[in-house]
Amino acid sequence: MQILHPFAGSVQQYNEQLSNPNAHRPGHCPQCQTKHPLSAHGFYTRTLIDTAFDGVIRVRRYLCHACRRTVSLLPEFVLPYLRSSLALIALFLIARLLRGQTLATAAPPSAPYQRGQFWIRRFRAQTQTLCAALAALTHPTPAPDFTHRALAMLESAGWIAAHRFLFAGLRCHLLGWPRGLAPDGRRAALSSVAAPA
Ligand SMILES: [Zn+2]
Repeated sequence: MQILHPFAGSVQQYNEQLSNPNAHRPGHCPQCQTKHPLSAHGFYTRTLIDTAFDGVIRVRRYLCHACRRTVSLLPEFVLPYLRSSLALIALFLIARLLRGQTLATAAPPSAPYQRGQFWIRRFRAQTQTLCAALAALTHPTPAPDFTHRALAMLESAGWIAAHRFLFAGLRCHLLGWPRGLAPDGRRAALSSVAAPA
């Protein structure tokens, strides 16, 4: 299970403070709710493209001894299962959908425009849900459609703050979970097997 690493600095600062397992060690298990601090359990690596970074970052993992499941601490500047940073995706969506730039101009230099189309498709499918959820965080603004309203609300709340609110509070992915992980980012098949009949 992924939870958010409450860290809002640069990628470099994130990498530097990652060596201390106590810095953000969860005090209880978010999966079985056992009230014991979790044990550090190594890292996994993932790729990340940001405005000033293109490479691999480590993500810290903890193990719960009660349920034997791991929890990983995803930094707030990335969205689960997406390679580009939240900032990069936000810049693109604003440029394309609010300012009406072409796909080619709006797309980050490091990303092919097809990736931009993929973000737009996922974002558009999500906008009605986002508007409803973000109403608890910021005032809805008058807008011609859900896409414009969602973008305005994200801009006013701040994308990272909105992502934190959606993900940590509601297990809602800003661009929608990939198929198979909806509605809350966990594999449905696993939880239904684990549930008593
Ligand atoms: Zn547990």
